[in-house]
Amino acid sequence: MDRTELRGVRRHARSVASNLAIAYALVAGVWLALADGARRAAAESAPEIAALLAHGDWVLLFVSTIAVYAVVARVLTRSQVNEYARTESDRALASLATQLPGLAYRCQNDFTRTAEYVSDGSIDLTGYPPADLIDNRRIALDALIHPDDVEAVHGAIREALDHHRPYRVAYRVRTAEGEERWVLDSGAGQDPVDGAYTRVEGLMVDITRQKHTEIRLDGARRHLEEIVEVRTRDLEKAKAELEVANKQLVDLSRHDGLTGLLNRRCLDEFVGQEFNRCQRYGGQFAVVMIDLDHFKQLNDTYGHQGGDDVLRTVAGLLRASIRATDRAFRYGGEEMTLVLPETDARAAWLVADRLRNRLAEDRLSLVDEKGNARDVAVTFSAGVAAFPGDGRTTEQLFAAADQALYQAKRHGRNRVFQASASTRPPPLRLADEG
Ligand code: GH3
Ligand code: MG
Ligand code: MG
Repeated sequence: MDRTELRGVRRHARSVASNLAIAYALVAGVWLALADGARRAAAESAPEIAALLAHGDWVLLFVSTIAVYAVVARVLTRSQVNEYARTESDRALASLATQLPGLAYRCQNDFTRTAEYVSDGSIDLTGYPPADLIDNRRIALDALIHPDDVEAVHGAIREALDHHRPYRVAYRVRTAEGEERWVLDSGAGQDPVDGAYTRVEGLMVDITRQKHTEIRLDGARRHLEEIVEVRTRDLEKAKAELEVANKQLVDLSRHDGLTGLLNRRCLDEFVGQEFNRCQRYGGQFAVVMIDLDHFKQLNDTYGHQGGDDVLRTVAGLLRASIRATDRAFRYGGEEMTLVLPETDARAAWLVADRLRNRLAEDRLSLVDEKGNARDVAVTFSAGVAAFPGDGRTTEQLFAAADQALYQAKRHGRNRVFQASASTRPPPLRLADEG
């Protein structure tokens, strides 16, 4: 309320008060005049006293009239100012509610949410004019809620009111035209009696568009997640396949395809490592060079396939007979190499000779060119050299082992020669002929 309005309210109160005061003065004046006449007649014996009393009455009348005016003006002004403020506040609230983008409501805190006030926004939002909703005349506020959402909405509002908190809940409403709309309903309890709210005031805002966008986005997000999930699965599968393929590739690059033994490249690598280790820590290791005897002849008699079978069998024998720390390699053709860490020449010779013996004793079943199966004795010759005694470089070591192998061949095959022994006759031990 501004100053001009306040002045108007006061002026109005003062004029009402002055009218009342004049009316009072007139009534009281008439009364006094009558009383004065009566007193004059009764007090002719003491005229001075009667006149004095009569004057006193008029003074009293004057003062009481002023008092009546003041009291009435004050009381009226206050009540009118309050009344005006209330009316103004209601008007402002109603105007605000009309401006609000949605449906403002005040309802009882009962089962149907019986509406006491509904703003005009109801028409746009629900298709029902406020009059239809007030006092549940046509439909209750609660009946607007979509049946599938009723339980959740009741729960959310009840929970908030029980804890004396405002509520905020999104749900679907059904309009008078049977349409479905999403609203965001925010409100709070009012007028508590014994700790429980008797009324609820709130505002419903139409969020249909946002909700539909949200639902669409949600669908798109879920779709994307599905795609990502499928892609991730594909990727993981591809990764696992790649890992297997890589492992196979590494295996292929390290192993000989025919015998499954480590290949020549790995032999160089392993010997290099052993060489470095022994040089650094003062250890030892031995190399055994194996060459199958008369293998060309075997190939000629039993075919290349038969020769391959023999190579596989010998490789299997080597692999199965050496320790986990030892390694067997295919050096090339029908030549194989053993590298035995922490083994001296003598021990290596024993290992090689035991293998030689076992192979010579086993008869391999091969089929000749005429298709006849035959048990064949396959033998090998071997040369043994050990670091550091037989060579201080890998080249020297291999040359020494090769030389020992050559000596073994020269001395009749199916035997194992030790490098130091082969260079210093007589040989340490000649294997028996197989
Ligand atoms: P020696 O006792 O003196 O070693 O005679 P050898 O016949 O074993 O030696 P030679 O070097 O004359 O012949 C080796 C043969 O090994 C020749 C070659 O055809 C055969 N060979 C090499 N690699 C393979 C292979 O992978 N498979 C088969 N089946 N034969 C092979
Ligand atoms: Mg050879
Ligand atoms: Mg040979």
